[in-house]
Amino acid sequence: MASPAYNGSCLCGSVSFTVVSEPSAVLACYCVHCSKGAGGLGQVIAKMAESDVNIINGHDKIARCVLNDTSSGAPKEKFFCSSCGSTLWTVPAGVKGKFLMVRATLLDNWYVHFLLSRRLPKFTR
Ligand SMILES: [Zn+2]
Ligand SMILES: [Zn+2]
Repeated sequence: MASPAYNGSCLCGSVSFTVVSEPSAVLACYCVHCSKGAGGLGQVIAKMAESDVNIINGHDKIARCVLNDTSSGAPKEKFFCSSCGSTLWTVPAGVKGKFLMVRATLLDNWYVHFLLSRRLPKFTR
């Protein structure tokens, strides 16, 4: 059995998860949704296959909101921890059922994986 590629958790630790594959893309996004959602400049996102993301703890803490003011016009779902407010991942309509746009900064040692040694994020806005 393959060991997890990544372990992740929200700020308060209520929600934890593993991802058992590498992201198909890593990007840094500075759009209005990402900067407001992060309370900062933007977010670093790892595009992960939904089937490879396993929630370990905190299913009952995961809340969802739907954003309709998207560039495509199709709704985007945002999932977050109801205790600490950390965004966990978003699901744009175009990838629903296939990918989760996981907040890379929730993954342990994300900066080692995505900034220092592997690949630089593609920048978008
Ligand atoms: Zn939390
Ligand atoms: Zn964005």
